[in-house]
Amino acid sequence: MLKKSPAPDSPSVTISRAGTLRLRDGHVWVYRSDIISAEGIGPGALVSVKDERGKFLGTALYSSSSQIAIRMIAREPVDNLTALLRERTRTTVAYRKQLVSDTDAYRVIFSEADFLPGLIVDRYNDLLSFQVLTQAMDAEPVRQAVISELTEQLKPAAIAERVDPRIRELEQLPARKSGLVQGEKSSAIFTMNGVRFHYDALEGQKTGAFLDQRENYAAAAKYMRGDALDAFCYQGGFALHLAPHCSSVIGVDSSRPALETADQNAALNNREIEWIEANAFDLLRDYADNKRQFDSIVLDPPAFAKSKRTLDTAMRGYKELNLRALKMLRPGGTLVTCSCSYHVTSEAFMEVVAQAARDAGKTLRILENRAQAKDHPILLAVPETAYLKCLILSVS
Ligand code: SAH
Repeated sequence: MLKKSPAPDSPSVTISRAGTLRLRDGHVWVYRSDIISAEGIGPGALVSVKDERGKFLGTALYSSSSQIAIRMIAREPVDNLTALLRERTRTTVAYRKQLVSDTDAYRVIFSEADFLPGLIVDRYNDLLSFQVLTQAMDAEPVRQAVISELTEQLKPAAIAERVDPRIRELEQLPARKSGLVQGEKSSAIFTMNGVRFHYDALEGQKTGAFLDQRENYAAAAKYMRGDALDAFCYQGGFALHLAPHCSSVIGVDSSRPALETADQNAALNNREIEWIEANAFDLLRDYADNKRQFDSIVLDPPAFAKSKRTLDTAMRGYKELNLRALKMLRPGGTLVTCSCSYHVTSEAFMEVVAQAARDAGKTLRILENRAQAKDHPILLAVPETAYLKCLILSVS
């Protein structure tokens, strides 16, 4: 009789029953508290994961410092990691070709959700930007293998690495600056849903733009009319999509550099938009005091709940913002309200918006209950991959 897979050569990590059950449920992380033994295993190593009885559960990438000690990479033994990562990269590029249309800017690789844990890659026209989140993805020859496969598949003019210093510190990786790792070009113009944007590979927040909202911009534009307010507008993603349909558009953000790019984006698209540098909470309060009215409001604040601990404060923030916006909406108006905090579930977010509506004396109808764009895939068994909520509501 044929025996199942041979015992893999990579060093083994033994995990607890709780960790084993979590993997059985389809999750891909094992927390440090569920590691029983990981003796002599170096940072970023490829490891075989075993249960307490020594049964092989799959192959993973190990982090010696993160609370997420193990990120699964395959159900089978892996003897050639770089070949596997190259193949996965080709598959994600092909998956985007099926899913993504009307844009030359999209997420090419979304970490776990693309079976490449610890790696994020975005495309902005002919530029690629990547971010490494783990020891394993930072190590050679892994890093170079992925870069070279991306180059072969997408033929970018340049590739930039975007460094998040906090993540590198948590992973105990040496400090490094953002910069080009290939090519010379660092700026481009990209187009999504027919709207054009400036991109600078070495500036801005996240990897440069909020690509996860791409499909929501187009959806919001279907409903929004009249006088519009885009609160937390960054470089004008929603505002620019609303401008062709609305009689006036105001964009508010606290970041001056973001608004400078927003203004250049408006010029690029021949749109008149008023940009205001302010704390959106204060501005909404002033507008409400002065009885300002709008027909369409977008609320897309930064992640208020960065951890479970800050959840209560975050929920108060969402309530307050939505309450203020709802009070300013004319009957028949539209509210687009978003939350990008993973810790706030879709149900909790709906509940807080419903509370705000009760307090404002308004009735809400759901036009669309949306999430992140499809190029930021969601793994059904890994709730952490679903983070963006976007409700489009008709207000009366
Ligand atoms: N809607 C944007 C993304 C928003 S990200 C898009 O689609 O591109 C959140 C934005 O909120 C960031 O641009 C950040 O600068 C801004 N911000 C953070 N705190 C703020 C505050 N208190 N008032 C106004 N803007 C704020």
